[in-house]
Amino acid sequence: MHMPERSCIVCRQKTSKYSLLRFVLEDQTLIFDPRYKESGRGAYLCPQKSCFIQAIQKFIFNKVLKTKKILISTELIQQVQCHIKNNCSDC
Ligand SMILES: [Zn+2]
Repeated sequence: MHMPERSCIVCRQKTSKYSLLRFVLEDQTLIFDPRYKESGRGAYLCPQKSCFIQAIQKFIFNKVLKTKKILISTELIQQVQCHIKNNCSDC
């Protein structure tokens, strides 16, 4: 079966979109979309803490989502770190 492929916005590694973390923008706020259901333009990241941190520090989310100001909450960072660490699908 063909799986849709996406690239990590940081390291550019290409893989099935379902092995990447998806993020969307909702009113300038970055939202984690673990079920790949939110509408809008998605930004994909491989499940690596280093890529997530670089995406924030180098404003890669801003470039990919074409928005100057993006709010990234502490809750979102914690949620993603938990997801990466525990592969937890509930948080
Ligand atoms: Zn990556």
